[in-house]
Amino acid sequence: PLVVGFETSCDETGVGVVRGQTLLADALATSVGEHERFGGVVPEIASRAHLEAMIPTVHRALAGAGVAASDVDAVAVTAGPGLTGALLVGLAAAKAYALALDVPLYGVNHLAAHVAVDELQHGRLAEPSLALLVSGGHSSLLLVPDLSREVTSLGRTVDDAAGEAFDKVARVLGLPFPGGPPIDRAAREGDPTAIGFPRGLTGPRDAPYDFSFSGLKTAVARWVEARQRAGEPVPVADVAASFQEAVADVLTAKAVRACRDHGVDHLVLGGGVAANSRLRALAEERCAAAGIVLRVPRPGLCTDNGAMVAALGSRLVEAGVEPSAPELGADSSLPIDVVSR
Ligand code: ATP
Ligand code: MG
Ligand code: FE
Repeated sequence: PLVVGFETSCDETGVGVVRGQTLLADALATSVGEHERFGGVVPEIASRAHLEAMIPTVHRALAGAGVAASDVDAVAVTAGPGLTGALLVGLAAAKAYALALDVPLYGVNHLAAHVAVDELQHGRLAEPSLALLVSGGHSSLLLVPDLSREVTSLGRTVDDAAGEAFDKVARVLGLPFPGGPPIDRAAREGDPTAIGFPRGLTGPRDAPYDFSFSGLKTAVARWVEARQRAGEPVPVADVAASFQEAVADVLTAKAVRACRDHGVDHLVLGGGVAANSRLRALAEERCAAAGIVLRVPRPGLCTDNGAMVAALGSRLVEAGVEPSAPELGADSSLPIDVVSR
């Protein structure tokens, strides 16, 4: 099926076009620069930016795919989780297109879409697979028996998301927002063993698949403040590399352990933090050692985009999942086990 996907859960306006599991176009507009001076995404600004960017982005996507609106078989849209006002813009646009074109509408889970996007690059996911979903607002280990209908959470962060930790640590280091890419870059020149930052929730009595990044973030801030108080220069590259190592170490150790415990030998990474070069390299190394087949989408597909929503929508059409009702609404805290609604 030819499916158009609409993504507006945060600060990216994404419209993607897929045919089956083939990516035809992925048009993106972002308001990230407008949030930079606030150190985080401002919902009101994001919603307005989506409104302004939506129609041109749809036109770019359709033109890029070389298809006409009348070729579209179904429309998919992120129904949650995300910022309510931002989600509502995408929902309004998707509903309008579905209604005007008289095609079914699928309201999908943004997090499941972060997992589904890998199929555009590597083909059908093995089921069951384990998914490590690490983004700006979420960090979860998921068991995926059937990505079209059944996703269960094995564990999640008990405080900050991994991406949130990158963003906060970047701020402490005076690096721009969002913090993931500049930390990734700075870390290349640093020594990952320079500072032994804490690995949260890795004790023998801790929940095996839960994460905690708030203690790590605080430890980095304390370390940097101590340096500054002493009037010594902050070795930004070493701090970035050591912090990044702590995050990648915990994420990959827990993901590999979850695979082993559940007898699953396929792992897929998804979400913005999956773009991190050290996480990708360490996952590669540890999965190879454990006999796990690892799949990681290219960095541009890890961060928010419309293609991921179209990918999940296409899968739902093929699986014969019921489309959404016309009164489909936004759910800012849509649970991960609700793949579509
Ligand atoms: P969610 O998916 O939880 O709703 P989101 O949509 O804001 O949150 P994504 O776009 O999936 O999140 O990811 C954005 C996050 O990914 C930011 O926190 C950003 O710092 C982080 N990120 C992006 N690139 C990298 C990288 N190379 N290394 C580490 N983190 C990264
Ligand atoms: Mg973003
Ligand atoms: Fe996301």
